[in-house]
Amino acid sequence: MDSVDSVVVGAGVVGLAVARALALAGRDVVILEAESAIGTHTSSRNSEVIHAGIYYPHGSLKARSCVRGRELLYRYCEGHGVPHRRCGKLIVAAEDRQIDELRSIQSKAHGNGATDVAWLERDAALGLEPELRCVAALHSPSTGIIDSHALMLAYLGDAERAGAMLALRSPLLAVRRAGERFELEVGGASAVTVLARRLVNCAGLTAPSVARRIERFPSALLPRELYARGNYYSLRGRAPFKHLVYPVPEPGGLGVHLTLDLAGQARFGPDVEWIDRIEYSVDPARAERFYGSIRRYWPGLPDGALSPAYCGIRPKISGPGEPAADFLIQGPKEHGIPGLVNLFGIESPGLTASLALADDVVNLIEP
Ligand SMILES: Cc1cc2nc3c(=O)[nH]c(=O)nc-3n(C[C@H](O)[C@H](O)[C@H](O)COP(=O)(O)OP(=O)(O)OC[C@H]3O[C@@H](n4cnc5c(N)ncnc54)[C@H](O)[C@@H]3O)c2cc1C
Repeated sequence: MDSVDSVVVGAGVVGLAVARALALAGRDVVILEAESAIGTHTSSRNSEVIHAGIYYPHGSLKARSCVRGRELLYRYCEGHGVPHRRCGKLIVAAEDRQIDELRSIQSKAHGNGATDVAWLERDAALGLEPELRCVAALHSPSTGIIDSHALMLAYLGDAERAGAMLALRSPLLAVRRAGERFELEVGGASAVTVLARRLVNCAGLTAPSVARRIERFPSALLPRELYARGNYYSLRGRAPFKHLVYPVPEPGGLGVHLTLDLAGQARFGPDVEWIDRIEYSVDPARAERFYGSIRRYWPGLPDGALSPAYCGIRPKISGPGEPAADFLIQGPKEHGIPGLVNLFGIESPGLTASLALADDVVNLIEP
């Protein structure tokens, strides 16, 4: 039976960041990935925005890991040649009734340490983006965009150079407890059993299911496994915007916003569609609702300009209508199992926060 110090389940951006951090800390690491490539789920189906840390409740793990992760990420991208751009973003109040909400977003941002988020009166906002319709806006100069696949390849490269091994098509099926170690049953074409001292569950959408398969894991600590799809539509032609443009947030997500990729192509999304299984099709008919939402802040959106692009699914642990849950990282202090860390509900801003979350995991795993 193969034996290894640490196993990370899931080769999304968070699993790869964790594997990298563990390998750089001198641990012998295997990454188990069920699919045939890295990052095929949430990590390649998102807005690719480096968030500044604006919206999250003060003191929450989302706020802390986003603000710290954002700084780490910019530094990492600069040092490793990962394509990115600090393009900045505007959050716009399209109507007077949204002004109070916009003010409360600004004070939340400042409380979280995103202190450069500035208030713009209408004319100043239109000076930056003349096609906007708004009564006021917030400007976040620290928000940016990133090539998420290049980031994952960079994390994987660092991890492999430090000795980590990636096993593709290797789903973790079950975990038995063998004294101080985990006995992992791994499926795929050549099913194997692996012994590990440490196990980090970064399985994203199915992280609660993976935890459920760990022998004697306390069921009271299993969060719900809920999915909220976010659909994106791309804009035909060039967008007349240099900044990302967000409305005041809507329940369950940040609202249908305009993001740009590094080539300047614009897309709008994501909306919030609660679903009960992992399924990545985009219904062209949903575009109709997008026109209305977008025209509140960009009345010039031409008819027929949107075409279905892609979707991603948020790994939710709180349901529709409930307050948004924080990131949930469970270590031995919570569940009493030495060497085990579970990451649950790592929705946005998990990409931005990936390096900070990886540091937290390394600190939780005892020496
Ligand atoms: C619509 C949307 C927009 C977003 N926009 C942003 C944004 O702009 N900025 C930002 O910072 N964040 C954003 N996020 C959040 C970000 O994308 C996620 O937090 C991040 O990608 C989560 O990475 P992960 O590694 O935890 O999960 P994933 O990328 O889902 O990776 C989990 C991996 O685990 C594997 N796996 C699952 N089960 C098993 C098993 N049993 N055995 C082996 N492998 C397994 C899966 O195949 C998968 O590859 C967005 C998310 C969504 C849904």
